[in-house]
Amino acid sequence: MTDEHTLGKSFTLNDGNSIPLVGLGTSRILPNETISVITTAIDIGYRHFDTSEFYKNTTQLGDGLRQVLLSGKVNRDELFITAKLAPCYEAFGDIETSLKEFLTLLQLEYVDLCLLHFPIQFKKGATKCNNDPKFGEYINGFCDHVQLWKEMEDVVEKGLAMSIGVSNFNQQQIKNIIQTCKIPPAVLQTECHAYLQVKDLVKFCQHEGIFITAFAPFGSPGLSKFEPCYKECDILSDEVVLDLVRKYGRTSAQILLRYLIQRGIGVIPKSSDAVRLTENINIFDFSLTDDDMEMMTKLDKNGRIFSFPFFKEHPQYPYCEEIN
Ligand code: NAP
Repeated sequence: MTDEHTLGKSFTLNDGNSIPLVGLGTSRILPNETISVITTAIDIGYRHFDTSEFYKNTTQLGDGLRQVLLSGKVNRDELFITAKLAPCYEAFGDIETSLKEFLTLLQLEYVDLCLLHFPIQFKKGATKCNNDPKFGEYINGFCDHVQLWKEMEDVVEKGLAMSIGVSNFNQQQIKNIIQTCKIPPAVLQTECHAYLQVKDLVKFCQHEGIFITAFAPFGSPGLSKFEPCYKECDILSDEVVLDLVRKYGRTSAQILLRYLIQRGIGVIPKSSDAVRLTENINIFDFSLTDDDMEMMTKLDKNGRIFSFPFFKEHPQYPYCEEIN
């Protein structure tokens, strides 16, 4: 567990690069609000932005980033941009092409972190948008993660990504990469919040020097309106969290984020609202006591929201042990 009194605002990854502990999740930021959310977030102090080929706002995100860079408010080297690539190809060799296409949309020359979004291989062109009925179209065969990882290492050597990692991979899938890689994964982005604490996975990754970034840190309120196959959970109004809200004079969101960063985990909450954006980044001036951390630990109930039901039949579906 990170010592709360020495907790900084960023973490040094196993490759020496530095990642801000709080980033802005950009899924479900609507295209027509994206530029204004990005500029507002920059003004508030966000420097880390999480993006994906799946989110329908990459073009606008690129315009927003271009705008803030041209304004001189920030330099490129002050930003930390994460790009999640869908393994979406018919032949090997497509990682570099996919990343270059993504960089063109983002109007950037490199990303700070490139992640494989899923351990599953999709049909080419099938996955650019998660509301698309073709979203679940994957290749029902074995995806060679070791070969794929070599391509990830190549994009680092070519200067297209500073760090590389994975998302939604399970422990065994990460082990398979570690056993043969030249560059170990720097980051695992995975669902993690008070109701899904993935303690074994966190312990394994921290032991291997892999930084965890938690997605859906609030349990993704409002998700089912966008994606009816999911059921979000209401962690923000959990009684234990509300007790801590009263004790610390902080909001539920701040308690939930603080809990994660005190476990040494980064967070990428999404918000399109200036007040909530401000709330979500102001979590470095208080700390939860060991007893309160312990109370939060007890909230764990294996409450996975993002179970990706459309991939369940795939041989490399990462959460088989959780299917009932
Ligand atoms: P989340 O961050 O847990 O929740 C976002 C929701 O919480 C939004 O509806 C937002 O509404 C609301 N919210 C934000 N701040 C709040 C606050 N202070 N108080 C109350 N409500 C607040 O869930 P998420 O968006 O699903 O996940 C976060 C990010 O993780 C995504 O944006 C994406 O970048 C990433 N992600 C990755 C994967 C993956 O497969 N790797 C999967 C899912 C998500 P407002 O906008 O109205 O504030």
